[in-house]
Amino acid sequence: MKYDYLVVGAGPFGSIFAYEATKRGKRVLVIDKREHVGGNLYCKPIAGINVHWYGAHIFHTSNKSVWDYVNQFATFNHFTNAPLANYKGTLLNLPFNMNTFNRLWGVNTPEQAKQIIAEQRKNYGVSNPKNLEEQAINLVGLDIYEKLIKGYTEKQWGRPCTELPAFIIKRLPVRYTFDNNYFTDIYQGIPVGGYNVLFDKWLKDIDVTLNADYFENRTMYEGMAEKIIFTGMIDQYYDYEFGELEYRSLRFEHELLESDNYQGNAVINYTDRETEFTRIIEHKHFEFGQAPKTVITREYPQDYTKDVEPYYPINDALNNEIYEKYRQKAEKEAHVIFGGRLGQYRYFDMHHIIENVLKLVDTEFDNQ
Ligand code: FAD
Ligand code: UDP
Repeated sequence: MKYDYLVVGAGPFGSIFAYEATKRGKRVLVIDKREHVGGNLYCKPIAGINVHWYGAHIFHTSNKSVWDYVNQFATFNHFTNAPLANYKGTLLNLPFNMNTFNRLWGVNTPEQAKQIIAEQRKNYGVSNPKNLEEQAINLVGLDIYEKLIKGYTEKQWGRPCTELPAFIIKRLPVRYTFDNNYFTDIYQGIPVGGYNVLFDKWLKDIDVTLNADYFENRTMYEGMAEKIIFTGMIDQYYDYEFGELEYRSLRFEHELLESDNYQGNAVINYTDRETEFTRIIEHKHFEFGQAPKTVITREYPQDYTKDVEPYYPINDALNNEIYEKYRQKAEKEAHVIFGGRLGQYRYFDMHHIIENVLKLVDTEFDNQ
C-alpha cells in the first residue's frame, strides 16, 4: 500500500492529523470533495478581503495548550466577537447584557435589570422547563425571548421553540455587566491573513487530492492506505444502516459592494421572524481591514437534503440514539477512525476539534 493513512476531509481535524502523522514519518494522503482545503474554515480572498466562505469563524478557547498549538502556525489578532441584533430596525447588543437592557428598558443598573427579568420570569416562567421556549423565558424573561431569541431560533432550526431542546439556548450567556464580548473564553482572535494560513502550513508537503469524494471511489481509496481517518458523515459511511441522522443546512449569499463599510460590525443578527436570513457578516471587520470595497454574506438556514452541506448535527434524543449505534459499530473497527463534527456527530467548535485530534494523535502514535 502506498500510504499509511488516508484522511477523508481537509478540515481542521483531517489536516492536523495529517500534519502530525507526517511529522512522525507516516505517509499520508488527504482527499476532499471540495475544490479547496480548510473545511468550513476556508477563506476565499476577494478584493483584498479574506471572506469566511462558510460563515463567521471566530477562534476562542480557554485551553492554553490548544491556544499555544494554533499560535505556532499563525499570529492571532485581537478581534473580539461583539455581535449586534437588528430587531425590526432597532440595534441591540449581544450577548444579553447591561447595554441590551439599557436600550430595551432604559435601566441603568444591574439591580433594575434583574428586577424586570425577575418579574417577567414570575409572570411567564415555569418551574421545570421542558423545551427551548420555557428555558429561554426562565433565563431572560419574555421581552428578550420575543425580540432576540424566538424569531432567530425558529429560522435557524426550522421548528417552533416549543419543539426544540432547551440545551441549545444554554450556549447564550446572560450578563449584568456592560460587556459585549460574546464569548467568555480567555483566548480569542482571528488568524492574521485568514484561516488558510494554518492549512497552508499543515498541508505543506502532503499529498492532497481535491474534488475527490470518498464515496465515488471507495474501493480504490480503501486499497491505497492501511488506515482511514474519516471526517465525513458517519451515517453515510455505513450506508445509513441504522437510519439517517438529521442535519441542518445553510445557504450563503456573498456580495461584493462598492462601499468601504456596510454595517460597521463583523456580525449583525436579524432576530425577527420575517427577515429570511439570520445574519449578515461583513468580513473585513474580522481583520480590521482597510480595503476600499467590502464583502458581505447573508446566511439563510435551510433544510438538509443530500444535495446541500450538512453544517449542523441535530443532537436531539432520537438522533443521539441513532448515532450511538453507529458509534458502537465504529468502535470495533480496526482500520477506520471517525473524527470531527460529522464523523462524531457533535456540535464541536474549532477548539474542541483541536483538543480531540491532538488526543487522537497521542493515542495513535503513543507519544512517538
Ligand atoms: P469540516 O471543517 O466540516 O471539514 C470536513 C471536510 O470533509 C470538508 O471539507 C468536507 O468537504 C470533507 N468531506 C466530507 N465528506 C467527504 C467525502 N465523502 N469525501 C471527501 N471529503 C469529504 N467554530 C468555532 O470555533 N467558532 C466559530 O465562530 C464557528 N462558527 C461556525 C459557523 C458556522 C456557520 C458553522 C457551520 C460552523 C462554525 N464553527 C465555529 C464550527 C467549525 O466550523 C467546526 O468546528 C469545524 O469546521 C469542524 O472541523 P472538521 O474538520 O470536523 O469538519
Ligand atoms: N440565538 C438567538 N439569538 C441570537 C443568536 C443566537 O436566539 O441572536 C440562539 C439560537 O437558538 C442559536 C443559539 O442561540 O441556535 C446558538 O447561537 P450561536 O450564534 O452561539 O451559535 P452558532 O449558530 O454560531 O453555532
